[in-house]
Parts: sequence; C-alpha cells; structure tokens
Amino acid sequence: MWDIVGQEKAVNFLQKSLLRGSLAHAYLLVGPPHVGKMALAVNIAMAVNCESPEPPCGKCASCLRIAAGKQADIQIIELGKIAESAEGESKTKISVEQVDQILHAVNLAPFEGKYRVFIIDGVEYMSIAAANRLLKTIEEPVQNVIFVLLTANESLVPVTIVSRCQKIELLPVAAEVIEQALISRHQVEPEKAKLLARIANGCFGWAVTAMRDETLVQQRIEWLDAWRDTFGADYDRRFVFAAKMVEKYSQNRNTVQQKLDLLLSWWHDLLLAKVGCEKDIRNVDFQNELKTTAAGYSLGQIRAFIGRIQSAKEQLGLNINPQLVMEVLMLNMPEHNV
Ligand SMILES: [Zn+2]
Repeated sequence: MWDIVGQEKAVNFLQKSLLRGSLAHAYLLVGPPHVGKMALAVNIAMAVNCESPEPPCGKCASCLRIAAGKQADIQIIELGKIAESAEGESKTKISVEQVDQILHAVNLAPFEGKYRVFIIDGVEYMSIAAANRLLKTIEEPVQNVIFVLLTANESLVPVTIVSRCQKIELLPVAAEVIEQALISRHQVEPEKAKLLARIANGCFGWAVTAMRDETLVQQRIEWLDAWRDTFGADYDRRFVFAAKMVEKYSQNRNTVQQKLDLLLSWWHDLLLAKVGCEKDIRNVDFQNELKTTAAGYSLGQIRAFIGRIQSAKEQLGLNINPQLVMEVLMLNMPEHNV
C-alpha cells in the first residue's frame, strides 16, 4: 500500500504504470515544499524493489530497509542543502563536478535490490552545465535505474530536463484529509490537528514537522502578532515595521514571502468571516477575533487589500525595490471603521 496522504491521482497513475510494467526511467515530481514529493519518491523506490505481490507492501525486508534509509541502491540527494552549504560562487548552483560525483554509481548494477533509484531534490539548483550533464544520463537510460527528480519550482528547471521526464504534479491536500491523517497516524489531539491541518496550506509534511516542533506554531503567532500590531497603527509605526521587513528581506527573501503569505491568509480569513464562510477559516485559533474584526471593514476594503498583498508578493518576485513595495503596502492598509 502506498504510504501517502492525499495525492490519489499521482498514486493511481504510478500504480497503473507499475502493474503494466510501463515505468518511466525518469520522473519529475512537481509541487510546493512539504506537499509530499519526497514521501512519494521513497514510495516509488519501495514499489520497484518490493518483494511482495502487492508493491509497495511497506512490510517486506526491502520496503523496511528503504523506509529506514538503509538500502544502498537508493540514493537521496538534496541539492538545495548542498547549494546552501557551499561557499562563494557556487553558492546557489550545483556544478558539473558535483553532479558527476552524484552520478558515479549510475552504471553499477543494483547492489542489494532490483532497481537503483536516484532521488534528486531541488533540481532547480543545478547550473546549466550540471543540468546538461544530468540530461545526458537521463537520455541514455540504464536498465534498472530510475531517476526521481523533485522540484518546488518547475519554471527554474531547464525545459530539456522537464521534457525528458514523466511529470507528476502534486497538489495541496485538503485540510480535512490532513486533519484525519494527523489523528489516525500520529495520534495528535483533535483540536491541535484541526489547527495544524488548516495552517499547513495543504502540505502534510509541514503539519507533521509542526506537530513535532512547537517553535513553528509559535513563530506563526509571533509573525501574526507583528502584523496585527500594524493594522491599527499610525503611519510612523507602519513605516518602522516596513523598514524592518526590508532589512529582513536583504537577509532572507523566503522568510519575507512567508510572512506575506501569512498576512494573505489572515485577510483571506477576514473575507471568509465577512461573507459567513467561517468553517473555511484557516487561522482557527483566531476565529473570534477574525469575526469581530471583519465587521469593521467593508467587503470592498478587504478584497482590495488582498489584491494589494498579492501585488506586493509578485513585485518582490520581480525584484522591484522592496522598500517601495513594503511602504506602498503599508499605505494601502485599510482603516478599521469601528
Ligand atoms: Zn515490500
């Protein structure tokens, strides 16, 4: 049985290919961070090496060794981590030499299982030369070798690589499915499961990480507190906040985008509260406040500001001056009519 939460379409497709014996030599799993790409990749590795008549069984010696990360034929390479730990020029791109090191085992026969599986996470981190090196390997399929490439950002993966792979898209998982899985698989108490499932943005992996690491939920509260402070503040205070965001942006762009996502989720919740769809609210731990606050804004104000936040996110992505972007966002924050 495939040990995956949600992703029925992807799993059905893979299961059929497995039964028909029509597996591809290379897969590209596309989906947001923590949506389950790595879990699916490991399941593929289990499925092709499984010893039972119903692969992946999750119980045979091979499945258990792969699940424990101990099967020598399964290589997991996390390019994002390698890129971040590298120094200087190569900081954001993986070089040809690094790819060569990774691929040296491609032509060796499987050591203990039926298939060698190379799981490469973060293919978008490769330099063009490195991607071409990988492409060459994929273009000349080796028997009993399967590549599973993972990316959260398909637009940064060279088209030549994408076109040589069987692409499988992983979609955000419904909050109810995540909630149930947290309760049944990890015995999370219902109230906590409900909150984690809703703030996970469809990513089960994030919910599991947050379940184990309280600081993630705590950090969300701190970020929300900081945003909530700006809502009723005067322009001076808002601009001080904007300046802090700009400073943060120069250190870590991702964090600022995540903070804007959180702001967006808050205003989206206000919209839901305003139109009476409270059951779909994400920030369920602030449900009462959202309801009261929504009453102080018009629907038009909420909608317009959601548009402003989305524009700010896009503009940062387009490298527009972050100070300008943040200040405009602060100026457009609607006034509360109480
Ligand atoms: Zn098995």
